Amino acid sequence: MPDIEKTKKRLLAKQTLPGLTLPDDRIRNLELADIIDICMIQALLDDFYSLARIPMFILDLKGAVLAGVGWQDICVHFHRKHPESCKHCLESDLHLSGAVVRGEYRLYRCKNLMWDVITPIVVAARQLGNIYSGQFFFEDEAVDEEVFKSQAARYGFDEAAYLKALRAVPRISRRALDSGMAFFMKLADMISELGHGNIKLAQALIEREELKKAAEAASKAKSAFLANMSHEIRTPMNGILGFAQLLAGSLQDAKFKEYAQIILSSGNSLLDIINDILDLSKIEAGKAELSPAAFALRDMLAATFKPLELMAANKGLELLYSVDHEAPDVLVGDAGRLMQVLTNLAANAIKYTDRGKILISVALAEELDGASIRLRFAIKDSGIGIPRDRLSHIFEPFSQIGRSAHVKYGGTGLGLSICKNLVELMGGTIWAESEEGKGSTFFFTGRFELMDETATSGASPEPRPERGLRPLRVLLVEDNLVNRILAQELLRERGHEVIEAHDGKQALEILARTAIDLVLMDVMMPVMDGLEATRRIRNGEAGDPKVPIIALTAYALKGDREQFLAAGMDEYLAKPFNCDDFLDVVSRIGAAKRSAPFAPPSGERAAKPPHAVS
Ligand code: ADP
Repeated sequence: MPDIEKTKKRLLAKQTLPGLTLPDDRIRNLELADIIDICMIQALLDDFYSLARIPMFILDLKGAVLAGVGWQDICVHFHRKHPESCKHCLESDLHLSGAVVRGEYRLYRCKNLMWDVITPIVVAARQLGNIYSGQFFFEDEAVDEEVFKSQAARYGFDEAAYLKALRAVPRISRRALDSGMAFFMKLADMISELGHGNIKLAQALIEREELKKAAEAASKAKSAFLANMSHEIRTPMNGILGFAQLLAGSLQDAKFKEYAQIILSSGNSLLDIINDILDLSKIEAGKAELSPAAFALRDMLAATFKPLELMAANKGLELLYSVDHEAPDVLVGDAGRLMQVLTNLAANAIKYTDRGKILISVALAEELDGASIRLRFAIKDSGIGIPRDRLSHIFEPFSQIGRSAHVKYGGTGLGLSICKNLVELMGGTIWAESEEGKGSTFFFTGRFELMDETATSGASPEPRPERGLRPLRVLLVEDNLVNRILAQELLRERGHEVIEAHDGKQALEILARTAIDLVLMDVMMPVMDGLEATRRIRNGEAGDPKVPIIALTAYALKGDREQFLAAGMDEYLAKPFNCDDFLDVVSRIGAAKRSAPFAPPSGERAAKPPHAVS
């Protein structure tokens, strides 16, 4: 009976085939042992031997026995022991087996006078080994012991022991050999198929691994490129937008004032495009998240539509909006992202409409579980409309309808795809209905948490801190000349004193000998960057480790803010910044400093009273 326990053990000991983990360049040189499961085959051979008593071995092309059963003493202890008779065995293993094609077998006598029979294992047109049987006699043949006695004498074998081994050699019928070989050939075929399948699997796994690596590398390169590009574009944009804002506020001549306004609004459009590209890359990387907070729905809508009403009026259009009286006013959600979606859809409606009205409605679609609701927004225009066959594609990135429309209206084709992703983040859906030449309606829904109306204090925006508090002495650490001049202008206009440093090292030197109320720190600078400088300041290397530090940087990707705060900075302002926001942050952080006085400056500084601090 087949030894079930042994078979089970072998099956359990089965391991991953080595061929499946080889690098690609080695696949072509795979050997039989790499691609077949030797444990499994050995278990099969064992079982077959216990039933048929036909010895069987699987050899690779170098003659190594990978699996085998039915070894006879005459071979193991005699023929393979003496160098000369062993040569006959190897000759049989390696040479006599040649030129047998797949599906056939060859029977021959080896030079040690035993029968051998062989059939090849061919994998993907390449012979990788043989199934070999041998060490037997046919039951109908007479074995001439005299011949073997003379063989014993020639090789110096112990004659009695040799003859005992000879008499133990199995005797099989020619029919049994025939059916045994039919089984072996099927086995050889099965091994070929499995081996081939395994090679293909190995190649597929390697290819998949390579594709994955290539995709990861491409995605990393894309993120790095975006981070760099964002930084590089934001730095000059800060100068353009900041000075345009300053000019627009200070010029008296109406024509020049208008020019400055045009620079400002064009710059802002450019910034919108950059932000769209960054948004999309964040969404694609699965990194877009909502920041829910309490907000007042109606105030938020008024603030969103005010500039859009102006935009519409400039085109001779009317923009009207209505809010369902059942819609609760205080909600918890990401108001910023909701504004972004509404602005995008309403701006599109204005862009693609030449006459008529834009009607926006906000309705309570569903009360969900007592703690949240679903709102439904509809933005209806009387514009050019969207052809039916394009309607299902407009939410895909970079999708635009027709070249002529693009030439007329411009755009990047990113807005709707960003809206779709944001709406889905809000637990809603977005869709559009449209008729070419008559207009379109864009709908979206979003889920918002309800809030106890009595606890609305958080819903109202934080009051802007009073500007123009007592002047501060600000250390401005910035390597870019234009941005340095801009920040200086803004700060000096408010009466603050500005000391300049061009890199982190200079900043440390200045801090060590001068009393400073506030540091504005760029991040990417030559010699010593802002993060390193901040760490050193916080380590006390510049005298006053507690001086407030505001990061002022064009790094505006997700995670940057956290990184700056973790390095010891108190606040973060992304470039390009709005001039009002800039002054607000300076006042807020500066005011906080006054309410928590710092340790007196050390060394040389101690001689001078801290500037502008009462
Ligand atoms: P774009 O920056 O090109 O406007 P969007 O993703 O916002 O990109 O819109 C994708 C395309 O969908 C637009 O190019 C336009 O062809 C079409 N589209 C969007 N909104 C409207 C609308 N209100 N009326 C007609 N076509 C629209």
